[in-house]
Amino acid sequence: MNNFIYHNPTELIFGKGQLSHLKDKAAKLGASVLLVYGGGSIKRTGLYDKIISLLQEAGCQVHELAGVEPNPRLSTVKKGIGICREQGVNWILAVGGGSVIDASKAIAVGVPYQGDVWDFYTRKATPQKALPLGTVLTLAATGSEMNRGSVVTNWETQEKFGGTTTFPTFSILDPENTFSVPRDQTIYGMCDIMSHVFEQYFSHTPEIPLQTRFAEAILKTVIENAERVLANPEDYDARANILYCGTMALNGTLPVGVETDWATHSIEHAVSAVYDIPHGGGLAIIFPKWMRYVYRENVERFKRYATEVWGVDPAGKTDDEIALAGIEATEAFFARIGAPTRLADYQIGDEKLQLMAEKATPFGPIGRFKKLASEDVAEILRMCL
Ligand code: NAP
Ligand code: FE
Repeated sequence: MNNFIYHNPTELIFGKGQLSHLKDKAAKLGASVLLVYGGGSIKRTGLYDKIISLLQEAGCQVHELAGVEPNPRLSTVKKGIGICREQGVNWILAVGGGSVIDASKAIAVGVPYQGDVWDFYTRKATPQKALPLGTVLTLAATGSEMNRGSVVTNWETQEKFGGTTTFPTFSILDPENTFSVPRDQTIYGMCDIMSHVFEQYFSHTPEIPLQTRFAEAILKTVIENAERVLANPEDYDARANILYCGTMALNGTLPVGVETDWATHSIEHAVSAVYDIPHGGGLAIIFPKWMRYVYRENVERFKRYATEVWGVDPAGKTDDEIALAGIEATEAFFARIGAPTRLADYQIGDEKLQLMAEKATPFGPIGRFKKLASEDVAEILRMCL
């Protein structure tokens, strides 16, 4: 196991009715708040009205940034920064999925920064200060509610980059707020959660049994609950388990002491930057192909994945056959729950394949399980066609 420092300051407030905590939290964070949300789902579900009431009861003056797009854009972030500066906002409340939270994180670090907030995404600068940020999560997927990552798209340059920004101070997760998530977004969310685990599970670091079992437990829990939640979107426990898996998959628990990969996320970000497709949908297509491309780097790890996560029976099989059976089980699972399996599902052909391969490797080769140059990425994307 490698050395590590583990620190996660986000207060996680989880369960039915936990939104009531918002009033106390708001009263402590200051009288002027920027409420950030997406394209209107929170108005349709009634969550918006509940939040406005609680903020008003806490004595907050509410400013709003509505219309954060899925795959949030730099232009929207800059609009939010402008509102905060003009109105002297003290803190930010993000209500929505990962896109709303990521945009809010960018605003939180952008307000006190003199330069261009995009510097935090192009690795030119690291945030030193941030406005406090609270979140009310409505979609199980990104883990953004309990980490300091943020992914923003610069649509002008067609670049989608992740940056290290700021942890939310608190995050309120009521599984009931995810009942209304449409079927496709529910599927994408589960694919994203599993992909986060894959990025941290496929590693060469030896002797990491606890991290390995944590990762397998998350994968198995998502797999067990996936069909249940799709059959009944209002199954509280299935929603709750998937929601908690989403948080645990990317809140810093899994990568401690582990050399993680993250190449597939970079590849997906490049595809989304050019074609604006849903993140989880892109990952469902790319991850199994990445697995096929790299599994020989550490067949033992892929054998373990096949037998522990998918119950592949190793008897009478070669190492390659066991590893490949696990990859096939992954593909079959994604297909069974209705995730996209090929880029063609999004009408993407090979026209911009080279461009995407270059955009996936802007700072040089990616990934650590196997280092991938732009030619490797192009090959993986070709396998996805
Ligand atoms: P999202 O982009 O935040 O939301 C997708 C869609 O779901 C939106 O149209 C949204 O509608 C809708 N929605 C959300 N909650 C809903 C609800 N309760 N009922 C009905 N509709 C609902 O999805 P996401 O997967 O959470 O976030 C994706 C983004 O996060 C991508 O940009 C991805 O790259 C990034 N990401 C970040 C991290 C991280 O650690 N920071 C990790 C992985 C991925 P409204 O807009 O109307 O609300
Ligand atoms: Fe992701």
